[in-house]
Amino acid sequence: MSDLTADAVTTEHPGAGNPAAPGGGRTVASAVPPSLVDRLAAGVTAAGEPDLVETVAPLTGERLAGLPQSTPADVEVAFQLARRAQSAWAALPVRRRAAVLLRFHDLLLKRQDEVLDLIQAETGKARLHAFEEVMAVAMAARHYGRAAHAYLRDKRRGGALPVLTHTVEARRPKGVVGHISPWNYPLELSVGDALPAFVAGNAVVNKPDTQTALTALWARELLVEAGLPADLWQIVIGDGPVIGPAVVEHADYVSFTGSTRTGRDVARRAAERLVGASLELGGKNAMLVLSDADLDAAAAGAVRACFSSAGQLCISIERLLVHRSVADAFLERFAARTRALRLGGGLAYGADMGSLVSVRQLETTTRHVEEAVKAGATVLAGGRARPDLGPFFHEPTILDGVTPDMTVCAEETFGPVVSVYRFDTDDEAVAAANSTPYGLNSSVWTRDLRRGRAVAARLRTGTVNVNEAYAAAYGSIASPMGGMGDSGLGRRHGAEGILRFTEAQTVATQRLLPIAPSFGLDDKQFAGLMTGGLRALKALRFR
Ligand code: NAD
Repeated sequence: MSDLTADAVTTEHPGAGNPAAPGGGRTVASAVPPSLVDRLAAGVTAAGEPDLVETVAPLTGERLAGLPQSTPADVEVAFQLARRAQSAWAALPVRRRAAVLLRFHDLLLKRQDEVLDLIQAETGKARLHAFEEVMAVAMAARHYGRAAHAYLRDKRRGGALPVLTHTVEARRPKGVVGHISPWNYPLELSVGDALPAFVAGNAVVNKPDTQTALTALWARELLVEAGLPADLWQIVIGDGPVIGPAVVEHADYVSFTGSTRTGRDVARRAAERLVGASLELGGKNAMLVLSDADLDAAAAGAVRACFSSAGQLCISIERLLVHRSVADAFLERFAARTRALRLGGGLAYGADMGSLVSVRQLETTTRHVEEAVKAGATVLAGGRARPDLGPFFHEPTILDGVTPDMTVCAEETFGPVVSVYRFDTDDEAVAAANSTPYGLNSSVWTRDLRRGRAVAARLRTGTVNVNEAYAAAYGSIASPMGGMGDSGLGRRHGAEGILRFTEAQTVATQRLLPIAPSFGLDDKQFAGLMTGGLRALKALRFR
């Protein structure tokens, strides 16, 4: 651990600091005993002498688990096992596969407390934010459990020649999906994204981040209990730059969630092998408070937008653009709410914000804040690490007066820090929101819903929430979610979210006549006949 302490953080601090949430009673050690770790660790595909890597519970800094590490050879074995299981699974009717997701939905809701403990133990987030993952996964299980059949069924398409060509568009599974996931939403981004791959008939080799592997392993156990053949979901863990490329090396398709830097590397490797990839990457998301916004609702929304999971949320807001005429009134409300947030790490509901996940995240957060303050930014709320609460806690922080030379202005902090900017016209706000290479999520606040949707249409982000922070778009599971620009390629959720795990196959059956000169027609006569036919098809409005 670094020597980062409250004293090392030199930002001037307004007020007394965020209050501590009441403790939760239970400890991480009692919620995640060695017997549970051992049981879950047995689910890792790793042979030979286990080379244990230790993880730390962010809430306390204490040792959490020793986990076996997979080697590149283990990754190869994982793909072999997954491939073997995949063909039988793909041969099942879609409804049989979908039934597993629906059973998983029920089991997850029933046993949510087990995984809420694990998520909190591994990430340090508040229980409410851990519960958001349970909600998101339940929604994905319900949606793809119910709708997979419609997404995947054969679709009759117009043939080359009406009546004579019978054409069907079919969806075939890719095979084995390589799925690489980060630590910040360990349940949602491991199993949530794997569910559509499974129901589409694939196997999955998943490399979760080692820090949050227990959550993924728990989800795997539960999905197997719901009826998934055990070999169909392989979990490998190990050093990202070693095991990640090994996963890409064997995958028929790659689904990656993580930083833009790693995403580029994954994309290059997938391109070399000519396999497809979806990439869910970073962001520098903006929230726009228009002149007619409901300021109380916007202030409450901004708290959710900026500080859920302590800002370690890809779609969280790090740039707050406020109309000058309402800026003071809005900021007063927002800063008051932010200062009142209760910080804590009890394994119970009650804290409004938890800890950061690691010393690395704390260092980035403090560096961004310190640099900005040294260069002239003002702290409107927060601004300090809180080692009195746990080793990686940092207060939710609002910065004003941030200028383009400050790192925090354009770089993703991935922590509980938001910078405020003022604007005079909607055009100016849209231009500022779009002035980043990223394009993941945005949020627009206005009483005029038509105006909100008109502004949304001009924002270059994969999701836009009008009068909500991020949950409205993310939770609209039937509609796609993902990034434009440096925020990624491809989409999760909706049709794209499942069809990415399939290959389209067109099966066309020709009847009665070939599509070639026949019945004694020579080439010229055939060309004349077809020319007339093409004209007739257009005139008859065939598509
Ligand atoms: P990261 O890129 O460092 O790691 C993500 C995963 O990739 C981990 O499992 C890691 O071990 C693995 N990895 C590392 N090097 C690799 C390599 N060379 N090849 C293949 N895999 C490799 O990201 P992180 O810091 O763990 O996660 C935070 C980032 O993820 C943030 O930028 C955040 O915005 C982004 N994110 C995006 C979304 C989204 O949906 N767009 C969701 C969550 C997080």
